[in-house]
Amino acid sequence: PSTAGKGVMLHGVEDNTALITDTVQKLRRTFQSGKTRPYEFRKKQLEGLLKFLNENVDLLCDALWKDLHKPRQECIVTEIEITKNEILVALANLKKWMSPKPTEKSLATLADYPFIQHEPYGVVMIIGAWNYPVNLLLGPLVGAIGAGNCVLIKPSEVAENLERTIYEMLPNYIDQDCYIGVCAGPEGTSAILKHKFDYIFYTGSTTVGKIVYEAAAKHLTPVTLELGGKSPVWVDETSDMTLAARRIMWGKLINAGQTCIAPDYVMCTAETQGELIKAMKTAVREFLGDNPGKSKDFCHIISTRQFDRLRKLLTGQNVAFGGDFDVDQKYIAPTVLSNVGLYSEVMKSEIFGPILPIVPVGNADTAIRFVNEGEKPLALYVFSKDDRVSERFLKETTSGGACINDTIMHIAAESLPFGGVGASGTGAYHGFYSFETFSHKRAVLWKKHGWDFLFAMRYPPYSDFKTNG
Ligand code: NAD
Repeated sequence: PSTAGKGVMLHGVEDNTALITDTVQKLRRTFQSGKTRPYEFRKKQLEGLLKFLNENVDLLCDALWKDLHKPRQECIVTEIEITKNEILVALANLKKWMSPKPTEKSLATLADYPFIQHEPYGVVMIIGAWNYPVNLLLGPLVGAIGAGNCVLIKPSEVAENLERTIYEMLPNYIDQDCYIGVCAGPEGTSAILKHKFDYIFYTGSTTVGKIVYEAAAKHLTPVTLELGGKSPVWVDETSDMTLAARRIMWGKLINAGQTCIAPDYVMCTAETQGELIKAMKTAVREFLGDNPGKSKDFCHIISTRQFDRLRKLLTGQNVAFGGDFDVDQKYIAPTVLSNVGLYSEVMKSEIFGPILPIVPVGNADTAIRFVNEGEKPLALYVFSKDDRVSERFLKETTSGGACINDTIMHIAAESLPFGGVGASGTGAYHGFYSFETFSHKRAVLWKKHGWDFLFAMRYPPYSDFKTNG
């Protein structure tokens, strides 16, 4: 395909006002024309998106390698295939999802037809993050297209090579009047957010999430906020330590810990800590060899800013293994910290890198209490062979999602909604939930002509007889 159909570029544009206004107006006009509503049109666009992913595997992997040193297999599994799966699920179900959903009838609606009609919101904005810049941008787009919206697609400028690929290539595959990619940094994005959208879907940090929420509130625009936080892990003494260590370290090291649902810290008893760390060290050696810095299977840190932040976190810590780094490569070794205090510096904010604190606590009660003291996490993980322990965590804490005896994998269960709660986000998506997120659920009561006598008592003149029978 040619690179003829580019999106809108705001980087380096001094006065972006007209460009932004034109883009939003174009989307609004297109939506009002009704172009995005028919099933056949939506289907064709989803097929276009699928084709984009199928035909640009090398380009996408190349961009992700440059941005994140992301291994090809991770690109394919966690970016391309997972997004393709979203598209395939949508294609297989769209007709069903779009059809009116009859609701239960009561005595009062026995002769009528009450139903929910999923209708598109209109012009929506999707703001992506840099860590999974394909999936976190195009995954929501699947829902937005499926639901029949026009979309302003804003990739993260931080993953700059991927942003460029989206800007240049995506318009070749989907309708350019309905879906417009806009490249913008924080300033440009803030300017875009001054405009009225019918829905905003944001993925990124909690701090920026608040800015987006505030901008949306000015127009009473509904939002989904996919944010972050510290996702805890509890490992108890009944666990198979080798298995727990492999699953935790895999979840922590995929994308070098730059995963919103990465295990952020592990709580266990002091007795369990030694065995767990030993198993973690073995797991990392098996995954990445003796020198992960040389491994093609391990991501690097996205930016110098993030690298410096992570390096500072290592200062003065008890490093059980790892701890080395390479400034030029923006590489930080898989690192496990031992004997970390519950209230120490690394426990204050989301780590978002390959550093894993192990925090010894007295028992599960303390762990549960600690989880409940903090902001509501995006994910929570429990490793135990005793189901009562896992059930306790599920009953006595809250989090966006949870996974028992594994990490990360709940995001890939397509029947489950994915999203946060409280500070880790609001709203959820994936599969049907994406379609639902981008649809207004219009409540319709369809009545017939005639039979007016049945409810004639609602009309004035009122009387005691009409009220009391
Ligand atoms: P980021 O820097 O890419 O920012 C996200 C988006 O916000 C970008 O498109 C960026 O252009 C935009 N943005 C940045 N500053 C802005 C501003 N002032 N006004 C308007 N828009 C602005 O990504 P990030 O925030 O560094 O992402 C990391 C965070 O995202 C982590 O906390 C992580 O947990 C979270 N995250 C959450 C999910 C999820 O699905 N819940 C997924 C990935 C990442």
